[in-house]
Amino acid sequence: MEPMFTPALHRQRHQFVIDFVKRKKPKKVLDLGCCECVLLKQLKFHREIELLVGLDIDGVQIKKKMHGLAPISTDYLQPSYDQLRIELYQGSVTEKDSRLRGFDLVTSIELIEHLTLADVELFSEVVFGYLTPEAVIVSTPNSDFNPFLPGLVGFRHIDHKFEWTRAEFKSWAMKVCLQYGYGVELTGVGQAPPGQQEHAGFCSQIGVFHRLGGKERYNMFDEDAEDVFSYTLLYSIIYPSLHDNNILRRVLMCEVVYWAEKLKRRWIAEETGERDDTDDLCQAEGEGGECFRASERHVDTEETQTGEQRALKACGAEMKTLVDQEEEDGELFWRHSKPDSDKWRRRVSVPLAVLWCCCPKVSVLSGSVSNLRLLLMDEPGVNLSQDGSAMLLNHQEQDLDDDDDEEEHRADLEDSPYAEARQCPPSAEPEEDWEANV
Ligand code: SAH
Repeated sequence: MEPMFTPALHRQRHQFVIDFVKRKKPKKVLDLGCCECVLLKQLKFHREIELLVGLDIDGVQIKKKMHGLAPISTDYLQPSYDQLRIELYQGSVTEKDSRLRGFDLVTSIELIEHLTLADVELFSEVVFGYLTPEAVIVSTPNSDFNPFLPGLVGFRHIDHKFEWTRAEFKSWAMKVCLQYGYGVELTGVGQAPPGQQEHAGFCSQIGVFHRLGGKERYNMFDEDAEDVFSYTLLYSIIYPSLHDNNILRRVLMCEVVYWAEKLKRRWIAEETGERDDTDDLCQAEGEGGECFRASERHVDTEETQTGEQRALKACGAEMKTLVDQEEEDGELFWRHSKPDSDKWRRRVSVPLAVLWCCCPKVSVLSGSVSNLRLLLMDEPGVNLSQDGSAMLLNHQEQDLDDDDDEEEHRADLEDSPYAEARQCPPSAEPEEDWEANV
């Protein structure tokens, strides 16, 4: 049999909420009767939401899929400044809990018809009179539509206590508005067959309620404001965010070390005239890659260059200028630059100013070169020059002709506290357990 609705009706109901969220950008959203958290899982991608909460009387349903709300690997690898906390509670919408007051949006999708009419009264009092959110979306079956549902006898679900006509829903909605100071717009999803819409209405009827009188009204109910905890917290997670100083530091360090290494290698390649074999860009793109001295090689057009390539190109120019200046002053980027017999031991100095202006993420995350210096001063694995203006990186090279040397070289790199950073963007998994941290 052809499905009656495309997309399926439950998807249309959830999409209705998502469209509302996109338009109104609420920060705190509560889903009543969240069941297996299907709607919450879609809402968590709307990162203007900072607090996302689900409530259901059935803890078993919640627990079935709640771990699907956890952050995914990109949330850890590329945290943004967005903040998101998700909480799931077991409890009844007929009981008050002060933790759920003051939300921007409360949704109740196909829930009220599971309550007795006496409990619907309590629901109205709790949601509109106590929680007093700025907006409430309530959906419930429209029984005027039932004759169009093939084979339906009685209610649409065995647990439904009632199914209202449009007139009954409107009457309840108007009463709530008068009693608790809300305005309502009645609409729905699931179109009736052609020519029947007027007569039958939508398959799922929806009321979108808006609290009248703005923010002040919330305080009118403050005499009720003592803490009431009647729900049980089943799940709580805070997403990694750059607002967390530890995370910001970690991401910044990752970028700094990655770019410092990259600049060092390019500089070495430039000086020795050798190709930078560790450079994935060069490897991937052969001689066409945007390597240090771009102007002497094939130069990619702006359109074909990645952001990283463009940044490195800029860095190349920047470092050249700085080196030339320093050479004039009698100082070189490369310290201890005399090769000693078959192995060289050198230190490469990468000025923080170069790092800062070449790597956009470093500049955004640190804010200023002096902040960058302060942050790096506290990092145990980072070696700064005496005046704090540059990062000193060991350069242990070069005779990698035989396998033993290559192994040794690899071991040197792996010993480095920032060994992981070499692969950091975009694929390294942080070893830290963020979930435990937050
Ligand atoms: N909102 C979901 C599920 C609707 S089914 C969706 O859009 O798909 C109704 C849900 O309401 C069920 O998960 C049920 O356990 C829950 N429920 C029923 N009575 C409740 C009550 N008194 N308080 C909270 N949740 C309740």
